[in-house]
Amino acid sequence: MIQDRFERPLRSLRISVTDRCNLRCQYCMPEAEYAWLPRESILDFEEIAVLADAFTSLGVDRVRLTGGEPLLRRDLPTLIELLAARPAIRDLALTTNGVLLGRHVEALKAAGLHRLTVSLDTLRRDRFQALARFDELPAVLAGIDAAARVGFASLKIDTVVLRGRNDDELPALLAFGKAAGAEVRFIEYMDVGGATDWSMDAVVSRRDILARLSDVYGPIEGLTGRDSAPAERFRLPDGTTFGIIASTTEPFCAACDRSRLTADGLWLLCLYARGGLDLRHPLREGATHEELAHLISTVWSMRADRGAEERLSSPARDVLIPVAALKRDAHLEMHTRGG
Ligand code: SAM
Repeated sequence: MIQDRFERPLRSLRISVTDRCNLRCQYCMPEAEYAWLPRESILDFEEIAVLADAFTSLGVDRVRLTGGEPLLRRDLPTLIELLAARPAIRDLALTTNGVLLGRHVEALKAAGLHRLTVSLDTLRRDRFQALARFDELPAVLAGIDAAARVGFASLKIDTVVLRGRNDDELPALLAFGKAAGAEVRFIEYMDVGGATDWSMDAVVSRRDILARLSDVYGPIEGLTGRDSAPAERFRLPDGTTFGIIASTTEPFCAACDRSRLTADGLWLLCLYARGGLDLRHPLREGATHEELAHLISTVWSMRADRGAEERLSSPARDVLIPVAALKRDAHLEMHTRGG
C-alpha cells in the first residue's frame, strides 16, 4: 500500500462518469450557463476499468461512482458490472440525486452495486423546486422507495444543510430516513468550486446541527469509528443513527484517503485542488498498466495537501473560485469533480 507525505494511504476512489446533471442545486450549480467537458474526452467504460485496475494495484479497494448525475450516463449498469467483477474492489457505491433512480434501481442492483447514497435536501416540494430548479421531489422519493425495496448493503441519504433554506427540516429528514431504512448524513455547506453563492453565514455547523437535534431529542451519543470515512456518526436516544460531514468547520484532512477521477480522466487529490494529473492522455497513448500505476504512485507519494484545513485557516473565507475562472476550466467545478 502506498502512502503520501502524511502517511495517508490511497484507498478510496470516486469516479465521476459524467459532468452533466439534471438538477441545478443552488449550492452546486447556481449559474445559468455552463462549459461542459467535450464529449470525445469522456472516458469509455473500458478506459475507466483500465484506470481502476491501476488504482486497485496500489491499494484502492473502495470505489464510488458519481457525477454530475451518474444515472445520466448511458448503460451505467455495464460499468458497474465491469467493476463489480473485480475482487480488489471490496466496496462499490453510487451517489445519485435520485431523479432517475426508480427507473434504474433494479438494473443497478443486478449489476452488482453494493451501496447507494441518495442526495435529498428537503421533503417539501416547493423548496425542492426552489433549491434544485426542477420539480422532481416526487421522482426522488419514489426512487428512494424503490431502492429500499430492492435492498442494498446500505442505503444513505445525504443532506446539505443550508441556513434559512432547509435547516428546519432536520428532524423530518431523520424521520423520513428511518422510515425508508436509510441513514441520513448532514453535510456542512462547503465552499468548493461552483458554490458561487457560498458564505459562512449560510453554513450550519456540526456544532449547530447537534445542538438543534439535542433540543428536540435529548442527549446525543457520539459513535466511535470515523476512520477515514468523512461522516462522524451519532445515535439519538431512540436508537436512530445519523452522520455529520463537517468538512467546512471541522475538516478531517489527516484521515483523508480519497481521490477523484473526473469523467475525462483528470485525477484530483483534493476537492479543493486547483489542478490534477491527466491520466487520459497517457492512457490513450498506450501507457501500460505498470506505467499508469507508476504515475499514480509517484504523484500520491508526493501528496501533501490539506485543502479543507487550509480553507479553514484562511483569514477572509469567501467564495473559493470566481465564476470567470469556472467558465475557463470546468475541472474546477464540484459537478465535474463529483463531490
Ligand atoms: N448528482 C449526484 C448527487 O446529487 O448526489 C452526485 C454528484 S453531487 C456533486 C455529490 C454530492 O455533492 C451531493 O450530495 C451534493 O449535495 C454534494 N455537494 C455539491 N455541492 C456541495 C457544496 N457546496 N457543499 C456540500 N456538498 C455539496
